[in-house]
Amino acid sequence: MSGNHSGEHHLEPQSYPALRAKAIESLLIEKGLLSTDAIDARVQAYEQDIGPLNGAKVVARAWTDAEYRNRLLEDGTSAIGELGFYGAQGAEIIVLENTPTVHNVVVCTLCSCYPWPVLGLPPRWYKSDAYRARAVIEPRAVLKEFGLTLDESVEVRVWDSNSDIRYMVLPVRPEGTEHLDEETLAELVTRDSMIGVANAKTPTPIA
Ligand code: FE
Repeated sequence: MSGNHSGEHHLEPQSYPALRAKAIESLLIEKGLLSTDAIDARVQAYEQDIGPLNGAKVVARAWTDAEYRNRLLEDGTSAIGELGFYGAQGAEIIVLENTPTVHNVVVCTLCSCYPWPVLGLPPRWYKSDAYRARAVIEPRAVLKEFGLTLDESVEVRVWDSNSDIRYMVLPVRPEGTEHLDEETLAELVTRDSMIGVANAKTPTPIA
Protein backbone atom coordinates (compact mmCIF):
# COMPACT_ATOMS: atom_id res chain seq x y z
CA MET A 1 0.00 0.00 0.00
CA SER A 2 1.52 3.30 -1.00
CA GLY A 3 -0.64 6.09 0.36
CA ASN A 4 0.50 9.63 0.27
CA HIS A 5 1.19 10.59 3.86
CA SER A 6 3.51 13.45 3.12
CA GLY A 7 0.82 15.79 1.88
CA GLU A 8 -0.48 19.00 3.33
CA HIS A 9 -1.95 17.31 6.40
CA HIS A 10 1.35 17.40 8.20
CA LEU A 11 1.35 21.13 7.81
CA GLU A 12 -1.95 21.45 9.66
CA PRO A 13 -0.42 21.44 13.16
CA GLN A 14 2.25 23.84 11.95
CA SER A 15 -0.20 26.50 10.79
CA TYR A 16 0.42 30.08 11.85
CA PRO A 17 -2.25 30.01 14.59
CA ALA A 18 -0.80 26.73 15.90
CA LEU A 19 2.71 28.14 16.08
CA ARG A 20 1.40 31.25 17.75
CA ALA A 21 -0.51 29.19 20.30
CA LYS A 22 2.65 27.21 20.98
CA ALA A 23 4.64 30.38 21.56
CA ILE A 24 2.03 31.79 23.94
CA GLU A 25 1.84 28.46 25.76
CA SER A 26 5.62 28.39 26.31
CA LEU A 27 5.57 31.93 27.58
CA LEU A 28 2.74 31.30 30.05
CA ILE A 29 4.52 28.23 31.41
CA GLU A 30 7.78 30.13 31.68
CA LYS A 31 6.05 32.92 33.63
CA GLY A 32 4.47 30.33 35.91
CA LEU A 33 0.97 31.37 34.88
CA LEU A 34 0.02 28.01 33.48
CA SER A 35 1.05 24.44 34.29
CA THR A 36 1.80 21.82 31.69
CA ASP A 37 -0.72 19.59 33.50
CA ALA A 38 -3.47 22.10 32.85
CA ILE A 39 -2.56 22.19 29.18
CA ASP A 40 -2.42 18.41 28.96
CA ALA A 41 -5.86 18.18 30.55
CA ARG A 42 -7.20 20.65 28.02
CA VAL A 43 -5.68 18.79 25.09
CA GLN A 44 -7.07 15.54 26.42
CA ALA A 45 -10.51 17.10 26.67
CA TYR A 46 -10.20 18.11 23.05
CA GLU A 47 -9.12 14.63 22.00
CA GLN A 48 -11.82 12.84 23.96
CA ASP A 49 -14.83 15.09 24.26
CA ILE A 50 -14.85 18.30 22.28
CA GLY A 51 -13.31 17.12 19.02
CA PRO A 52 -15.40 13.97 18.51
CA LEU A 53 -18.69 15.81 19.17
CA ASN A 54 -18.99 16.55 15.47
CA GLY A 55 -18.61 12.92 14.57
CA ALA A 56 -21.13 11.93 17.25
CA LYS A 57 -23.69 14.26 15.64
CA VAL A 58 -23.04 12.68 12.25
CA VAL A 59 -23.52 9.17 13.67
CA ALA A 60 -26.70 10.08 15.57
CA ARG A 61 -28.15 11.63 12.41
CA ALA A 62 -27.32 8.49 10.43
CA TRP A 63 -28.96 6.31 13.09
CA THR A 64 -32.19 8.29 12.96
CA ASP A 65 -32.41 9.25 9.29
CA ALA A 66 -32.08 6.40 6.81
CA GLU A 67 -31.70 8.71 3.82
CA TYR A 68 -28.92 10.62 5.52
CA ARG A 69 -27.22 7.31 6.36
CA ASN A 70 -27.33 6.31 2.69
CA ARG A 71 -25.84 9.63 1.62
CA LEU A 72 -23.18 9.33 4.31
CA LEU A 73 -22.07 5.90 3.14
CA GLU A 74 -22.15 6.96 -0.49
CA ASP A 75 -20.27 10.24 -0.11
CA GLY A 76 -19.03 10.84 3.41
CA THR A 77 -17.37 14.16 2.71
CA SER A 78 -20.49 15.87 1.39
CA ALA A 79 -22.91 14.29 3.89
CA ILE A 80 -20.63 15.42 6.73
CA GLY A 81 -20.55 18.84 5.06
CA GLU A 82 -24.36 18.95 5.25
CA LEU A 83 -23.97 19.23 9.02
CA GLY A 84 -21.44 22.01 8.62
CA PHE A 85 -18.22 20.07 9.14
CA TYR A 86 -15.56 20.56 6.51
CA GLY A 87 -12.01 19.35 6.20
CA ALA A 88 -8.93 20.52 4.41
CA GLN A 89 -9.25 20.76 0.68
CA GLY A 90 -8.56 17.47 -1.04
CA ALA A 91 -9.02 15.24 1.98
CA GLU A 92 -11.94 12.90 1.48
CA ILE A 93 -13.74 11.21 4.36
CA ILE A 94 -15.08 7.72 3.79
CA VAL A 95 -17.56 6.37 6.32
CA LEU A 96 -17.43 2.65 7.08
CA GLU A 97 -20.53 1.02 8.47
CA ASN A 98 -20.19 -1.54 11.23
CA THR A 99 -22.79 -4.30 11.22
CA PRO A 100 -23.36 -7.35 13.39
CA THR A 101 -21.12 -9.29 10.96
CA VAL A 102 -18.50 -6.73 9.89
CA HIS A 103 -16.34 -4.63 12.21
CA ASN A 104 -14.17 -1.84 10.78
CA VAL A 105 -11.03 -0.46 12.41
CA VAL A 106 -9.09 2.62 11.30
CA VAL A 107 -5.35 3.13 11.49
CA CYS A 108 -2.67 5.17 9.77
CA THR A 109 0.27 2.82 9.40
CA LEU A 110 2.74 5.48 8.28
CA CYS A 111 1.93 8.44 10.51
CA SER A 112 -1.27 9.77 12.05
CA CYS A 113 -3.76 10.66 9.30
CA TYR A 114 -7.11 11.17 11.01
CA PRO A 115 -10.54 12.57 10.07
CA TRP A 116 -10.09 15.67 12.20
CA PRO A 117 -13.21 17.56 11.01
CA VAL A 118 -15.30 14.87 12.73
CA LEU A 119 -12.96 13.56 15.42
CA GLY A 120 -10.71 16.44 16.42
CA LEU A 121 -7.14 15.60 17.39
CA PRO A 122 -5.92 12.00 17.25
CA PRO A 123 -5.28 10.42 20.65
CA ARG A 124 -1.68 9.67 21.57
CA TRP A 125 -2.09 5.91 21.16
CA TYR A 126 -3.31 6.38 17.58
CA LYS A 127 0.10 7.84 16.74
CA SER A 128 2.06 5.15 18.58
CA ASP A 129 4.26 2.68 16.70
CA ALA A 130 2.58 -0.19 18.53
CA TYR A 131 -0.94 0.66 17.40
CA ARG A 132 0.11 1.48 13.85
CA ALA A 133 1.88 -1.84 13.41
CA ARG A 134 -0.29 -4.15 15.45
CA ALA A 135 -3.69 -2.93 14.28
CA VAL A 136 -2.86 -4.43 10.90
CA ILE A 137 -1.09 -7.60 12.04
CA GLU A 138 -3.33 -8.64 14.91
CA PRO A 139 -6.43 -6.44 15.02
CA ARG A 140 -8.40 -8.83 17.21
CA ALA A 141 -5.72 -8.83 19.89
CA VAL A 142 -5.53 -5.03 19.78
CA LEU A 143 -9.31 -4.73 20.07
CA LYS A 144 -9.25 -7.08 23.03
CA GLU A 145 -6.80 -4.77 24.78
CA PHE A 146 -9.26 -1.94 24.21
CA GLY A 147 -11.87 -4.12 25.91
CA LEU A 148 -13.66 -5.20 22.78
CA THR A 149 -13.91 -8.95 22.22
CA LEU A 150 -15.46 -9.82 18.90
CA ASP A 151 -17.05 -13.12 18.05
CA GLU A 152 -14.95 -15.23 15.68
CA SER A 153 -17.76 -15.02 13.14
CA VAL A 154 -17.37 -11.23 12.89
CA GLU A 155 -15.16 -10.16 10.01
CA VAL A 156 -12.61 -7.50 10.98
CA ARG A 157 -11.61 -5.01 8.30
CA VAL A 158 -8.65 -2.70 8.87
CA TRP A 159 -8.44 0.56 6.90
CA ASP A 160 -5.21 2.46 6.39
CA SER A 161 -5.73 6.22 6.24
CA ASN A 162 -3.61 8.61 4.24
CA SER A 163 -3.57 12.30 3.49
CA ASP A 164 -6.14 11.96 0.69
CA ILE A 165 -8.55 9.53 2.31
CA ARG A 166 -9.52 9.54 5.98
CA TYR A 167 -11.87 6.96 7.44
CA MET A 168 -14.53 7.21 10.09
CA VAL A 169 -16.52 4.29 11.48
CA LEU A 170 -20.29 4.36 11.77
CA PRO A 171 -20.80 2.18 14.85
CA VAL A 172 -23.78 -0.13 15.30
CA ARG A 173 -26.70 1.58 17.02
CA PRO A 174 -26.94 -0.01 20.48
CA GLU A 175 -29.95 -2.10 21.34
CA GLY A 176 -32.63 -0.57 23.47
CA THR A 177 -32.19 2.91 22.00
CA GLU A 178 -35.31 2.95 19.80
CA HIS A 179 -37.01 5.56 22.01
CA LEU A 180 -34.04 7.94 22.19
CA ASP A 181 -33.83 11.18 20.24
CA GLU A 182 -30.89 12.27 18.12
CA GLU A 183 -29.30 14.42 20.81
CA THR A 184 -29.38 11.67 23.43
CA LEU A 185 -28.10 9.15 20.90
CA ALA A 186 -25.11 11.39 20.14
CA GLU A 187 -24.04 11.06 23.78
CA LEU A 188 -23.57 7.33 23.25
CA VAL A 189 -21.11 7.85 20.42
CA THR A 190 -17.52 7.86 21.67
CA ARG A 191 -14.37 8.80 19.82
CA ASP A 192 -13.12 5.22 20.11
CA SER A 193 -16.31 3.85 18.56
CA MET A 194 -15.70 6.03 15.50
CA ILE A 195 -12.11 4.75 15.19
CA GLY A 196 -13.45 1.24 15.56
CA VAL A 197 -11.66 0.19 18.75
CA ALA A 198 -14.90 0.18 20.73
CA ASN A 199 -18.65 -0.06 20.31
CA ALA A 200 -21.01 2.79 21.00
CA LYS A 201 -22.07 2.99 24.64
CA THR A 202 -25.27 1.34 25.75
CA PRO A 203 -27.63 3.74 27.50
CA THR A 204 -27.73 3.66 31.28
CA PRO A 205 -31.24 2.64 32.33
CA ILE A 206 -33.22 5.28 34.19
CA ALA A 207 -33.43 4.22 37.82
FE1 FE B 1 -0.62 9.50 7.91
